[in-house]
Amino acid sequence: MPDPFLTEEHQLIRSSVKEFAERYIAPIARKMDLEDYYPRDLIKELAKQGFLTPSAPPEYGGPGIDLRGSVVVVEELSRYSPTLGFITEIVNDNIVYALLKYGNNRQKEEILPKIASGEWVASYALTEPCCGTDAAAIETRAERRGGEWVINGRKIWITQGAYADIYLLFARTGPKDARHKAITAFLVKRSACIEVSKLEMMGMRGAGEAEVKFNDCVVSDDDVVGKVNEGFKIAMVTLDLARIGISGVAVGLSQGVLDEALEWAKTRTAFGKPLIDWEWIQFQLADMKTKLEIGRTITYKAAWLYDNKDPSFVLYSSIAKLYTAQMAVEIARDGVQILGGFGYSKESFSERAYRDAKVLEIAEGTNEAQRIVIHRILTRGLPEVEL
Ligand SMILES: Cc1cc2nc3c(=O)[nH]c(=O)nc-3n(C[C@H](O)[C@H](O)[C@H](O)COP(=O)(O)OP(=O)(O)OC[C@H]3O[C@@H](n4cnc5c(N)ncnc54)[C@H](O)[C@@H]3O)c2cc1C
Repeated sequence: MPDPFLTEEHQLIRSSVKEFAERYIAPIARKMDLEDYYPRDLIKELAKQGFLTPSAPPEYGGPGIDLRGSVVVVEELSRYSPTLGFITEIVNDNIVYALLKYGNNRQKEEILPKIASGEWVASYALTEPCCGTDAAAIETRAERRGGEWVINGRKIWITQGAYADIYLLFARTGPKDARHKAITAFLVKRSACIEVSKLEMMGMRGAGEAEVKFNDCVVSDDDVVGKVNEGFKIAMVTLDLARIGISGVAVGLSQGVLDEALEWAKTRTAFGKPLIDWEWIQFQLADMKTKLEIGRTITYKAAWLYDNKDPSFVLYSSIAKLYTAQMAVEIARDGVQILGGFGYSKESFSERAYRDAKVLEIAEGTNEAQRIVIHRILTRGLPEVEL
């Protein structure tokens, strides 16, 4: 069905990602979850196809498609593996956009192509044990010593952190009470100064979640992304985009659950007729579809606003994130219910999706953080946005 926010090109992207996902992702998605298996080779292959960094332009090794295109990629990947959709949206929306908008020539010409080709795994390292929502309170320090920067601190819940070759890291470069005015973004290459400890998570298994310690890591001025003490802005700008990406994960995951529930309801019988002939099941499926279409529309609208350089995208990215994260949890819960015992077993997609969906209410800004943003815009108007 045509969508007013998407073009024919977006639909072609959807078909090619779907074909790739059915062939290469569907066979190993369950293993990723059961064994917390990080599929390094598959991620390299995703990169080769241009699906890992859809927004990187051709001169830096990507296909250079717009935000709506990357949302469609994430959506289709998440239909089969929400973990791979989640990894892709972080790499594309948090890291590629940061380098494109704020990176220096070396970072764009040497590092971005390595990420886009899949040669280097990249992580976004903002959250710390002390603070996630209150990101302006981070404690990791970068100190100036002998013309270089020396970084010490701990980051937590870092996606792909266990396997990353390079981290886009946010560190304090001034007093703690200066909060967001004394935070700088750095690119830190994996070396002996970095210790990683893998973390066991409820969902999004196979994403290589880790705690990452930086012990006297030395980087140069050339590794600063953007300007010194202006890193917080980079974190916030990329989070605005990533919220639309996360909404893409929520939409794809929910579509996967709905497909499974519909198929099950048609084939499973109870009291002498297929489940789908029972009114409660029909209403449940209708509600799931209604929520999904609202979520999909608001997600595409947010991405369309960004692609059309409309600053109100920051409002819609938070609305989309808040709505679709809650939607995904509800749809996954209802999907499990329709599947009954099968839905509670690890044989079903819905069981995995239910666990995966929960993190959509937490990562890239919690539901509460979205409400804070929406309320602030409602009462104070739109913030200044660089487009
Ligand atoms: C699977 C996973 C992957 C992740 N990947 C990454 C990654 O790659 N990189 C990265 O940097 N981070 C990552 N994160 C971290 C994530 O962004 C944080 O967990 C999130 O921002 C919340 O921070 P927190 O865990 O410190 O919770 P807190 O900030 O401690 O919040 C705890 C609770 O309090 C609420 N709360 C906080 N402040 C307020 C307030 N003012 N008003 C009302 N309620 C409030 C929150 O909404 C939440 O419900 C990941 C997390 C998970 C679980």
